[in-house]
Amino acid sequence: MYAGHAAVALALRWREPRLPIVPLVLACYGPDWAEVVLMAPNPRAVMAAYTHSIPGLLIGAALVTLLWRWMRRPGATLLGVGWLLHWPADLFTGRKPLIFPTPLIGLDLYKLPLADFVLEATVVAIGCAIYARGVPKRAELRRVIVILGAALIALQAAADVALGVMRNTEWEPSLASATRQSHLPRARVHGWAGLRMRFALSPSHNRREGERWQRRTDPGAS
Ligand SMILES: [Zn+2]
Repeated sequence: MYAGHAAVALALRWREPRLPIVPLVLACYGPDWAEVVLMAPNPRAVMAAYTHSIPGLLIGAALVTLLWRWMRRPGATLLGVGWLLHWPADLFTGRKPLIFPTPLIGLDLYKLPLADFVLEATVVAIGCAIYARGVPKRAELRRVIVILGAALIALQAAADVALGVMRNTEWEPSLASATRQSHLPRARVHGWAGLRMRFALSPSHNRREGERWQRRTDPGAS
């Protein structure tokens, strides 16, 4: 997720107006910063297991919370929450590790840039609306929030156009372990049944395949 993380920071800020917005935004993008730093000497796929897996996320959130608390600044818990919310946000747009480098799970919406744009623009609009509740109701402040939201949505549109141009692989959402797949050649299934298979929501299909395979290898079994 790109602009959506900034929108999460805006929404959280409403809970603690004494917490400056900059560290909160940095915390909401925290796993991505950590990945950029760690990626310098290592490939990205390996580093995601440290920065975007659930244990990596918990460690990062704990460190940033403790650091802010040690500095005796308000809003330490909120920084940790912002760091943790990075994971569910990325779950919609990419595919991320749970504990180990594989399997990767997520809805992979970066491969459907229009759907990604609609989702992130909605998150930005909601984040700005929540943020607006925490600031004084003055016309000039409202204008600043509207401009901020429009700028985030424009940045997201540019990112999605770039994603559409660069797209070189198929949309591959996954909500289940990639290792739990039939070893038989997979037939191309279209429509609703195909969608259920993509999301690994159709165990009955795999069961039917398994039964068919058993009949073929052991005709006397059935
Ligand atoms: Zn990320």
